[in-house]
Amino acid sequence: MNLQTFSRQAPPRIFLPYVLGFLLVSAFAPSAAAQSCGTHGVVVQILGSGGPELQDKRASSSYLVWEDGRPRVLVDAGGGSALRFGESGAQMSQLDVILFTHFHVDHSGDFPALIKSSWFEDRKRPLPVFGPPGNEFMPSTTEFVSDLFGDKHGAYRYLSELLVPTEQGSYKIQPHNVEAGSTPVGVFHEHGLSASAVHVIHGAVPALAWRVEIAHKSIVFSGDTNGDDPGLVRLAQNADLFIAHNAVPEGAEGVERRLHMPPSVIGQIAADAHVKMLALSHRMLRTLGQEDQTLFQIKKSYSGPVVFANDLDCFSVK
Ligand SMILES: [Zn+2]
Repeated sequence: MNLQTFSRQAPPRIFLPYVLGFLLVSAFAPSAAAQSCGTHGVVVQILGSGGPELQDKRASSSYLVWEDGRPRVLVDAGGGSALRFGESGAQMSQLDVILFTHFHVDHSGDFPALIKSSWFEDRKRPLPVFGPPGNEFMPSTTEFVSDLFGDKHGAYRYLSELLVPTEQGSYKIQPHNVEAGSTPVGVFHEHGLSASAVHVIHGAVPALAWRVEIAHKSIVFSGDTNGDDPGLVRLAQNADLFIAHNAVPEGAEGVERRLHMPPSVIGQIAADAHVKMLALSHRMLRTLGQEDQTLFQIKKSYSGPVVFANDLDCFSVK
């Protein structure tokens, strides 16, 4: 209930020489103050609130979970999100774990850009990466990472020391395939941070929803799903914040409906799971501008607070 949203504010008008002086100093003195979500508590920052269409003028799906000014969890890395990651003030070397919901481009396209950026940071500890298993249509998480950074056939094999145990010189990415069903399965627990997943239905694409627990707060990410699997309601039970994907409008049919949940389904899941707040992301051209109708459908079943996410928004979980 007690969530606050912050959006970027327009900078105040300041005398130009002062600004130049400040920039010269601040450009070489990164600090906690540079982080756009503040330095206290658990905060979820929206790095990408859009879908695959570039014309939505939003980065594609990506979310960053902060604890006391430290970025700990990255969920998905869609196109454009690497730039937003930089704008957030986060550094790749600070992350504890990366979680993927699935490997469509709008959820994974900027992963290599993030990894390349980390090359210039001082990271020594391994970087665990969890995501779905594969099938005939999609690679598993281990295949996806290997397809990018494997030393024999990886597209970016010039960075293979990130993945190949025998190669020296860098930290290692540790990819894991998560075989989840409709009952939440815990896959990561470290330093007061845990992550659990369920399988969700997104056409034929292996896909997961994620729950992150940190500092007695819980955040659930639906990922892309049509909402048919009962696991999502179980995963989202009593979550402090539920981030659901508003990819299709009410009345969507055919492949759109087979892949995504309309607002009425989002509302029903939020209500059944008793989530304390609902944020709508993955906003596409077909849902942008439909916010009133979306809210109307959701409010039929869910009476809690609902917000529409925008890039770089911070949702403070209190
Ligand atoms: Zn998507």
